[in-house]
Amino acid sequence: MSTIFTKIINGEIPSYKVAENENFYAFLDINPNARGHTLVVPKKEVNRLFDLDEDLYNGLMSFSREIAKSMEKVIKCDRIGMAVIGLEVPHVHVHLIPLNEMEDIQFTKKVKMEPHEFDAIAKSIAYKM
Ligand code: 5GP
Repeated sequence: MSTIFTKIINGEIPSYKVAENENFYAFLDINPNARGHTLVVPKKEVNRLFDLDEDLYNGLMSFSREIAKSMEKVIKCDRIGMAVIGLEVPHVHVHLIPLNEMEDIQFTKKVKMEPHEFDAIAKSIAYKM
């Protein structure tokens, strides 16, 4: 069965898309730690980060870097943090999280956002790509 992220990539489940290329898809996390919290996912369904082949792994890091650079341009924060966890969704994804304090990366502090805010942030990051 397809993962929820494959369904998002295929457009079967809606997402606030940030960017996409041949191998990767980036979209906003639906339960963000901070405004602009973005997930970057390989289109190929692989469960664990270090099981990606080297090219895909390096491509994921490179695409994540591009997205983070765009995020830095539009989101006021000290820096963009990166985490890979995957305990909830078994499909590799990089979390890119705008950070101001250590708590922002701890997945305990969540922010509530309205649909129009998700939409505006996704579009503003995409615009800077
Ligand atoms: P992890 O697997 O790294 O522990 O966490 C999975 C992440 O995916 C969580 O931050 C969660 O909010 C996010 N997530 C889970 N389901 C969806 C979804 O359907 N749409 C979006 N945009 N994010 C999701």
